[in-house]
Amino acid sequence: MIFKEILIRYGELSTKGRNKNDFIRRLRENIRYSFHDILPLNIRAERDRMFIEIENDEKYQVLMERLPEIFGIQSFSPVASCNKNMDDMKQLAIEIMAQHSNQPLTFKVEVRRTDKTFPYDTHMIQRELGGTVLSKYQNISVQVKNPDVELRVEVRHDAIYMMGQIVPGAGGMPIGSNGKSLLMLSGGIDSPVAGYLMMKRGVRIEAIHFYSPPYTSEHSLQKVKDLANELTKFGAKIRLHIIPFTEIQVLIKERVPENMTMTTTRRMMLRIADKVREEIGALAIVTGESLGQVASQTLESLTAINDVTSTPILRPLIAADKLDIIHIAERIGTYETSVLPYEDCCTIFTPARPKTKPKIEKVAHYESFTDFDELIERAVRNRETHLLPEKKVTADKFADLL
Ligand code: ATP
Ligand code: MG
Repeated sequence: MIFKEILIRYGELSTKGRNKNDFIRRLRENIRYSFHDILPLNIRAERDRMFIEIENDEKYQVLMERLPEIFGIQSFSPVASCNKNMDDMKQLAIEIMAQHSNQPLTFKVEVRRTDKTFPYDTHMIQRELGGTVLSKYQNISVQVKNPDVELRVEVRHDAIYMMGQIVPGAGGMPIGSNGKSLLMLSGGIDSPVAGYLMMKRGVRIEAIHFYSPPYTSEHSLQKVKDLANELTKFGAKIRLHIIPFTEIQVLIKERVPENMTMTTTRRMMLRIADKVREEIGALAIVTGESLGQVASQTLESLTAINDVTSTPILRPLIAADKLDIIHIAERIGTYETSVLPYEDCCTIFTPARPKTKPKIEKVAHYESFTDFDELIERAVRNRETHLLPEKKVTADKFADLL
């Protein structure tokens, strides 16, 4: 292993002092969490970059595989080092470029001299290392503007550091640096994507799901757990609150005119979500709503639904096209689970002709004959909570049980 450490460049970082420290602290914690299976990791944080020491090949492989998924990282590079003499530097330059030399490419040498007492200046280092690489590899040529590979050489006080690769990171901000929100998670395509986008903006997520047994099956519940589980791979645990919703849905069907049941159902969901949000100390609710996608997502419908609370409702997909949402779902790995054909509590109770322009006063009027408050309290109280990722029962544990 020629690489000694991985250099991490921070993503979008607010320049204010305290926030910056918080960003860096969170990122370091989240990295520790994501690599809990290969700890200990020696992580050194500086003001404008972070270094993770590479102890062996195995850790290197795992780091390179998972770092691209951690929010708050702009890019990262494996870094090699050598003694401060020209022979060792030439040798290291050859070894680093060997990783790229199997195809024709252009390159240049970029030098940063922190140790100003080093006898070779920038120009000499560029000339010496450039010449060495060119004579070693016939298919590599020099190009100063936009080369394929930039061989970066840093002359620091303790040693020479070199890197030849810049891997793009996930961008965004470390999860937890922007507070906590409650994600309304259905089994569909949109809401997991909405959750992902908020996590990317540094928001810690808890999720809430409404289910209506026996109208919805264990399969559809498992699907939602699987989706929440998928989201945990971006570097945070997720608590999933499962709300028994049958009683309320059946009552809505009985008491509210059919074309308004959908609006009322959404209003009840939101009231329950808001209570859970308050209990868990989250500041906002996140949904996968996208303008005009279905009857409940017209501006009039959103207004009528939103009327039950003044809590901020974050809708990261409000202006996104379905195809773009699908692309993200495919990229983050939730799409396949989302399209499994299990029924959702809303689809089953969906009226044939839901109102696309419901009037708040009318909806509220029909709801006023029923005491939903108590049912809402009960649904909140009787919720089941799961912490994901679930610990897998390993073969050994099974053996213990037998
Ligand atoms: P999705 O693909 O996320 O299901 P959708 O296009 O099917 O979205 P709707 O079914 O109208 O749209 O749902 C809109 C939003 O309401 C969802 O994105 C989700 O945030 C929330 N929602 C819908 N059904 C449920 C449910 N059973 N449990 C929790 N949240 C839900
Ligand atoms: Mg849906």
